[in-house]
Amino acid sequence: MSSTNASNQSFFESVQRNFEKAAKFTRFDRGILDQIKACNSILRVKFPVKIGNEIEVIEAYRVQHSHHKLPCKGGIRFSLEVDQEEVMALAALMTYKCAIVNVPFGGGKGGIKIDSKKYSDFELEKITRRYTSELCKKNFIGPGIDVPAPDYGTSSREMTWILDTYASLNPNDINAQACVTGKPIAQGGVRGRAEATGLGVFFGIREACSFQEDMEKLGLPVGIAGKRVIVQGLGNVGYHTAKYFQEAGAKLVGLIEYNGAIYDENGLDVDAVQAHRQKTGGILNFPGAINIADPAEGLEQSCDILIPAALESVIHKDNANRIQAKMVGEAANGPLTSEADEILNKKGILVIPDIYLNAGGVTVSYFEWLKNLSHVRYGRLEKRFSENMYHELIDIIESTTGKKVSELERKTILRGPDEIDLVHSGLEDTMIGSYREIRDIYTSQEGVKDLRTAAFICAINKIGVSYEQLGIFP
Ligand code: NAD
Repeated sequence: MSSTNASNQSFFESVQRNFEKAAKFTRFDRGILDQIKACNSILRVKFPVKIGNEIEVIEAYRVQHSHHKLPCKGGIRFSLEVDQEEVMALAALMTYKCAIVNVPFGGGKGGIKIDSKKYSDFELEKITRRYTSELCKKNFIGPGIDVPAPDYGTSSREMTWILDTYASLNPNDINAQACVTGKPIAQGGVRGRAEATGLGVFFGIREACSFQEDMEKLGLPVGIAGKRVIVQGLGNVGYHTAKYFQEAGAKLVGLIEYNGAIYDENGLDVDAVQAHRQKTGGILNFPGAINIADPAEGLEQSCDILIPAALESVIHKDNANRIQAKMVGEAANGPLTSEADEILNKKGILVIPDIYLNAGGVTVSYFEWLKNLSHVRYGRLEKRFSENMYHELIDIIESTTGKKVSELERKTILRGPDEIDLVHSGLEDTMIGSYREIRDIYTSQEGVKDLRTAAFICAINKIGVSYEQLGIFP
């Protein structure tokens, strides 16, 4: 996850370069473009935490990239590679991502520079709570200000600690639950958040695979079934992505973790691999699969779709030419450097960019935030009403046709929506609609040669208009 890669081009520079590539296709003045690009607020803190008998000074960040819409939104990661530039780049990506999927937030991101494997649960809790109180002190967290979420190295557990710390420091805030998303259900989380990013990745790639002319160019058939897929990283995003592809009939030919990769032309079962990983501590030596000791080489194996879902800058100018996939789905943030991006585009590989593809997490986080502000579970008001209406409809159909529907049909038709149904359907609609918006720009705007540029144009257009309408202080 280093902010510089084999080419020494920083992740932040990559993001800025991609922005500029797209900016020239938009109609905005330089001033508006510079404002869109700029990181609005940057918080860097150092705080002491007692670890065992020692006092450790922890370095942490929160970047609010854009205030054109509030709150700011973006995950918090725990990693030794965290630095200001990395957090700035990730926060910027969040701004563009939210605009692309029509989520009314500005971008933000946070990071704590630690190796979370080095600490006990209790120590991690102390670090997370202290970080949250720093955010509170500096007004960098709150339902209408800045709303963190899980990211690399964090999960619903850390989000609970953040919520509890925020709520105890803000006892009168009736909307305190909306200060963070990705929470467990019992703490105000929304059903479907855990799998949201992976499911969004699946919906996005499925949509891309549904266009006959695009698939013909790649020499692939339409649809997901039968496609040979490699996934890098079996964490939250990678696991769920792999699972949905497998369920849709794709063949998982390769899986990659930090300590090795496995490959099997006949297809791997992701749950069996996860069980093997839990038992042995890694994915290597999975029965029937070939071991690839160097995980980086896993990316270079033969497949139709390669899905990096772990870290940034894993495909760079030195390995891009060896990528054999016909499509690359960026589930992770920034897995390609901009140089690698150019190489893959020249090779005719269809790259589906992170700023669109992994937006499922923030989309469902938006649903969670809305749920917290409305203080009511999705489906609670309409489920029974819908079921009663469907019931009446079936009765009318049966009495006018003189025919009876089967018990199974009745059960299927009579089901009103639960929270999970509404969340999944809202996510599916978002991913399909946004892909079509981006593809429209890609296919209709002269000179636009890749989906990433099209996605950036889409984001800049929306944010630019927002700044224009807000007006700039004289
Ligand atoms: P995670 O911590 O749950 O999982 C990361 C996985 O990658 C782990 O299994 C880890 O062992 C593995 N890994 C680490 N180094 C690796 C290497 N060199 N090769 C292969 N695998 C390696 O993190 P996550 O939440 O799944 O996030 C993964 C990526 O997706 C990050 O780039 C993150 O920013 C991005 N993302 C996450 C979300 C979300 O909702 N969690 C949303 C949008 C984007």
